[in-house]
Amino acid sequence: LTTTDLIEEHRICVCVRKRPLNKKELTVKDLDVITIPSKDVVMVHEPKQKVDLTRYLENQTFRFDYAFDDSTTNEMVYRFTARPLVETIFDRGMATCFAYGQTGSGKTHTMGGDFSGKNQDCSKGIYALAARDVFLMLKKPNYKKLDLQVYATFFEIYSGKVFDLLNRKAKLRVLEDGKQQVQVVGLQEREVKCTEDVLKLIETGNSCRTSGQTSANAHSSRSHAVFQIILRRKGKMHGKFSLIDLAGNERGADTSSADRQTRLEGAEINKSLLALKECIRALGRNKPHTPFRASKLTQVLRDSFIGENSRTCMLSTIALKTSSQMLSICEFRVKELTVDP
Ligand code: ADP
Ligand code: MG
Repeated sequence: LTTTDLIEEHRICVCVRKRPLNKKELTVKDLDVITIPSKDVVMVHEPKQKVDLTRYLENQTFRFDYAFDDSTTNEMVYRFTARPLVETIFDRGMATCFAYGQTGSGKTHTMGGDFSGKNQDCSKGIYALAARDVFLMLKKPNYKKLDLQVYATFFEIYSGKVFDLLNRKAKLRVLEDGKQQVQVVGLQEREVKCTEDVLKLIETGNSCRTSGQTSANAHSSRSHAVFQIILRRKGKMHGKFSLIDLAGNERGADTSSADRQTRLEGAEINKSLLALKECIRALGRNKPHTPFRASKLTQVLRDSFIGENSRTCMLSTIALKTSSQMLSICEFRVKELTVDP
């Protein structure tokens, strides 16, 4: 089976990526509770204690479409997740790739690129790799004759509100017309001619996303970032690829926080991630009714959840996780994938 066959077969693909332990985790000798024994299996080893206080590891096995261990590069992850979806948008389809996971597990590293050092490099993230391949595909004779134009948008959803990252965080309204078409009013759609153009937009959007924030990560962990590549033919939409760096899925804990704002944010994130799960599961089952209105995130992605040719990839990033985290990821899967003991 090629990756394209797999995507043909399943409109939804659920994958897991484990990041390497960082210096701090290595220094304090944190227990690495995750192993990836084969290319689609994740094993979780949870330290437990019996009544007589003897310690043992409880092992649980989970199967996904793909499991990437900590030696996997962004390029490799990309090849099996977002790459097949580039074909989808040339084929007049709607593609969506999500990064889902706790704060610090590697969502932004995977999607946006490496922002850890002084030299921020967005060229190795899935946003940029997808853009690179879009421009490569455009050169193929079959697509060249279609005379397609490429556009990009970049926006953020924070506490149920939409902000344009390519236009100084202008707050945008979301409207639904009589034909159930959802529109983000005034969202800047920039034409891009090459990968370099796209890299510049990613940089602009990223700096806009974190500007005025005391801590870049504290803010980004509470918001969803949506980067879109849109193909147009004579002005009409031909295909759309949405790449999403989701808010950290640990925010649920904050619903009990003393700070009202934090509590509201937490509730909103829980609501949108739950709505997303529902929509993805509906997509996988070919259900005609998708509960997209339940959150701003699913509402603005509505056109990606409906339609004949919609494909989604859920990429869950994990670090030192427990089995409860794995179960949360498993909820996205449509078919039963849990492995024999
Ligand atoms: P998130 O966006 O999920 O909060 P980040 O992408 O910011 O997490 O990752 C947290 C830290 O771990 C960053 O310093 C990042 O560079 C590093 N990191 C994440 N994934 C990897 C990886 N696969 N390889 C190396 N470093 C990684
Ligand atoms: Mg992040």
